[in-house]
Amino acid sequence: MTDDSTSTETPADEDTDDERDVSGSTEHREPDSDVSSNPDPAVEAPTDSGDRSPDELVDATLSDEGSPVETGGSSEDGTAASEGDTADNSPLADVGTATADRSVDGFSGDVDLDDLDLDADSESEADEASRGLFDDLLEGEPIFENKEVLRPSYTPHKLPHREDQINNMATILVTALRGDTPSNILIYGKTGTGKTASAKFVSEELETTSRKYEVPCEVEYINCEVTDTQYRVLAQLANKFIDKNEEYIEERLDEFETLRDEAAEDPDALADSEFDSVAGVETEIRDLEDDLEEFEPVPMTGWPTDRVYQTFFDAVDYHERVVVIMLDEIDKLVEKSGDDTLYNLSRMNSELENSRVSIMGISNDLKFTDFLDPRVKSSLGEEEIVFPPYDATQLRDILQHRSEIAFKPEILTDDVIPLCAAFAAREHGDARRALDLLRTAGELAERDRTENVEEKHVRHAQEKIELDRVVEVVRTLPTQSKLVLYATILLEKNGVHNINTGEVFNIYKRLCQEIDADVLTQRRVTDLISELDMLGIVNAVVVSKGRYGRTKEISLSVPLDETEAVLLSDSRVGEVEDAQPFVQARFDN
Ligand code: ADP
Ligand code: MG
Repeated sequence: MTDDSTSTETPADEDTDDERDVSGSTEHREPDSDVSSNPDPAVEAPTDSGDRSPDELVDATLSDEGSPVETGGSSEDGTAASEGDTADNSPLADVGTATADRSVDGFSGDVDLDDLDLDADSESEADEASRGLFDDLLEGEPIFENKEVLRPSYTPHKLPHREDQINNMATILVTALRGDTPSNILIYGKTGTGKTASAKFVSEELETTSRKYEVPCEVEYINCEVTDTQYRVLAQLANKFIDKNEEYIEERLDEFETLRDEAAEDPDALADSEFDSVAGVETEIRDLEDDLEEFEPVPMTGWPTDRVYQTFFDAVDYHERVVVIMLDEIDKLVEKSGDDTLYNLSRMNSELENSRVSIMGISNDLKFTDFLDPRVKSSLGEEEIVFPPYDATQLRDILQHRSEIAFKPEILTDDVIPLCAAFAAREHGDARRALDLLRTAGELAERDRTENVEEKHVRHAQEKIELDRVVEVVRTLPTQSKLVLYATILLEKNGVHNINTGEVFNIYKRLCQEIDADVLTQRRVTDLISELDMLGIVNAVVVSKGRYGRTKEISLSVPLDETEAVLLSDSRVGEVEDAQPFVQARFDN
């Protein structure tokens, strides 16, 4: 793969098929319902709908965070696990075994008086009509007041434990409101530490204040996980600024047309204006209309990058203003497309005549500047702000705030929030995970039709989220890795202990033959096993076999049945009809 950055990006470089669909529209699509209704709690509905088709968006979000590697490791970390135990009622101990099962009919025995009042009529009415699919589901008291509040797409107005970082950003960006260029900012922190939420909060405040004081200042947000090439970033920015310029021109046209009409009747109307004649106003109107004609949105593929850059540059420089460009997940952009975009953006100011640009980069990867050209690195990192992980106590505060809006009063039992916080603290202090847990626990309670969300729902939610993660990771493995994993599963299913690489390789080979797939070398298979290990799907330890050298002992780290089911749902792997004979053959020779 070569770098697609400099001057000749052709449609062939990009996934043209999908993009052709959207090339007509400039930008700004509503978040797609496919995405926001995604049932997978680990998947973040992107807040920036960007320039992709819904399928691409889903794909992009599914690979979100690269966290399989991180979470896989830490969740097995014994020392971290003990942090959960510190929660007040030791919620990690003793799953509620003796919960009286009142969920069967929902209204047996000890119903609240309130419930009785409420349900007296509706019950009898429902009895009259035949009971439908939804009656049962509707019957329970709703648990949630507003579930959306627990979704990642919700931007909270209050961000406890991020006051320092937010003040820090504001102190740097206030320069923009004085008409000067703020320093570039680089924000670091692991996923779920509130970077995006804080940055969006600050940018909204900045824009609101700039409107209040009529200082021209604009913030553009780009999620580089979705918009991940120089072409796309520049095209998206160019089109956003073209839109803004058009709005700006329309406003001025309105103003000048009114002025022209007034001046035609009464020349004094020009007294306070920059014009001395009606003809002057008319010339200005014509100029603006010409400008409006000239703006040409950048198509999503096809132009040389030079031209895209120039269009973007001209759009930014169209009138005086300070522009803050927020590049979220900037590490993904650099990883995929190198640092040319950042290089170009960071040297713009020396050429802009009317406007000024300041860049705010947000990265999940603390080391990503290592890959940058030193000039880019020093320019981008003029100011650095670190978002440390939340600890369990901070996560409790965050959950407490949200739960008050999300749930009906007194729905959560006392240990629910501490347990969610404890689990998420184990996942490197990830607030997103904490909120996912709380939401999923609520959904499970709703499904159980219990009146409260209880500890057991949180535990169940934790398992569900973990399983969803595994399913997602396994589902998206390349076919060869799936075959290697399947070989391991087959061995384990047949009760083999201390599985070694050679055994996996033998079964793998047979599987390949079975479905006509290329057979990789044993060396490559060993690499694939290491990758599965890093993803937390298998556990591979190197053991010494004395003078026979070293080998790996491999065991499965994920639930066998579910994983097998996911593998067999793959159209290729699913072709394996019956693996038992050749697994059995292993014991025979
Ligand atoms: P990051 O960008 O660092 O991965 P986000 O800003 O997307 O993390 O935060 C993840 C989730 O946690 C979001 O739903 C966000 O609203 C929530 N969140 C993070 N920090 C806080 C906080 N201090 N207060 C309230 N909610 C928070
Ligand atoms: Mg983020």
